[in-house]
Amino acid sequence: MTNIALLGSTGSIGIQTLDIVRNYPNLFTIDTLTAADNWEKLAHQAIEFKAKRVVIANEIHYHSIKQALKEYNIEILAGADALEEVVKQQEIDIVVVAIVGFAGLAPTIATIEAKKRLALANKESLVVGGEIVMRLARQNGVEIMPIDSEHSAIYQCLVGELTPPKRILLTASGGSLRDIPIEELKNVTPQRVLSHPVWDMGARITVDSATMLNKGFEIIEAAHLYSVKSEQIQVVVHPQSIIHSAVEFADGSIKAQISYPDMRLPIQYALTYPERMNVGGLQSFDPFITSTLTFQKPEAERYPCLELAYSALQGGGILPTVLNASGEIAVEAFLRGRIGFTDIARVVEKSLEMTNNEPLQNISEIYEADAEARANALFIIDN
Ligand code: NDP
Repeated sequence: MTNIALLGSTGSIGIQTLDIVRNYPNLFTIDTLTAADNWEKLAHQAIEFKAKRVVIANEIHYHSIKQALKEYNIEILAGADALEEVVKQQEIDIVVVAIVGFAGLAPTIATIEAKKRLALANKESLVVGGEIVMRLARQNGVEIMPIDSEHSAIYQCLVGELTPPKRILLTASGGSLRDIPIEELKNVTPQRVLSHPVWDMGARITVDSATMLNKGFEIIEAAHLYSVKSEQIQVVVHPQSIIHSAVEFADGSIKAQISYPDMRLPIQYALTYPERMNVGGLQSFDPFITSTLTFQKPEAERYPCLELAYSALQGGGILPTVLNASGEIAVEAFLRGRIGFTDIARVVEKSLEMTNNEPLQNISEIYEADAEARANALFIIDN
């Protein structure tokens, strides 16, 4: 039995993780579930999965969820600090961090310090704190199992290899606006962007897929997870999303991980590695039906965020934190109709330009840089 703390259980990754748990009651139990605001869904999940405790990060919902769960023996905690506390429970075997955004950093670090197995969907933790997070993981003997499909693919390609990768081919669907004329991008609505052709994901990552800021985050995530330099990571637009990424080795041999797109596969791999199991309901790859796999170079004009991410990775220090924070603010402004789609890259670029970069020494500097970058991004949006 693997006892799971699932942080961000009400989101896209959280719900798919619970799908797996539902199908394998003999393998997994749920210890803790958490959400930010969606206390009703959290309460339903807690009852169905017989959770021992729940955390509602936004404290204003504490009384609502307490009332909803009053007949159940479920501990109820509230506030961001509680997310860091719950992962320390001795009975927890694995922590899935499926919180979106910067808020995932503190629980990720707490999980590593508690020496728990970490199944990490929250890529922002590695974007903003990659070096520190990886160092802490090494010091605490914690292996980070990535849930991001690309990084899971790379992980799977590297299993059993003794030589480091020469090149990583990081595949990208190209997002929901891949085929529309570039001159129309500035007028697209949030609704249009949110209809992703392949993946059904949370709002932020769907917008970030369309700008490829998400792929930029993944470049940084891969650089930290697999100790590779930016020039070893090549982004390849692969519209079918069948190859989830590939790794080239010293001899020129390339290994790729192939499957129809379904996040439950990388989630279960992170939960059960080194075992594999049948998730159920996954379609087996048919090369005669899916007989064409195509690859394109990402257009720099369509995806300016990609170049911004490469330069943030190369510059290091607090630049990746600024990339993430300004991206988060810009996407929120776009979803609220305050700025246009192409303004997202403009806000990120200007925020990076405004940054007085410095090397990162400790976690508290990430928080300072994050707060300053958010203020700068809001200033850019307002002016
Ligand atoms: P969602 O927006 O669907 O869900 C986010 C979850 O985090 C929800 O449970 C939400 O609670 C909670 N949350 C949001 N803000 C906070 C906060 N400030 N404090 C605590 N909890 C919070 O996101 P996704 O599931 O799409 O993505 C989660 C992470 O996984 C992201 O980092 C994303 O980049 C990554 N990822 C996602 C993929 C996908 O297919 N969706 C694929 C690969 C990676 P509430 O419901 O109450 O708002």
